[in-house]
Amino acid sequence: MGDIKEKSGEEQSLIVCDECGSEYYQNTSIMMKLCPECSNILYGYDNCNHEFEKGRCLKCFWNGNTSQYTINKEN
Ligand SMILES: [Zn+2]
Ligand SMILES: [Zn+2]
Repeated sequence: MGDIKEKSGEEQSLIVCDECGSEYYQNTSIMMKLCPECSNILYGYDNCNHEFEKGRCLKCFWNGNTSQYTINKEN
């Protein structure tokens, strides 16, 4: 298994967002199967204050993907 663990020792479970397909840290989102970004767009929950480095958010591990649904919604 590829569990990612922070150097601090805090466990971070990586799971895949159902909507955009990006991996994210489960504990950063209130939704079981949606990353903070998608749960914000779709349901209005608090988003992560993303800090991108090398294409990944340092906080939630979101990769910047947006789902087809959210793209259509914004355009
Ligand atoms: Zn997502
Ligand atoms: Zn983030």
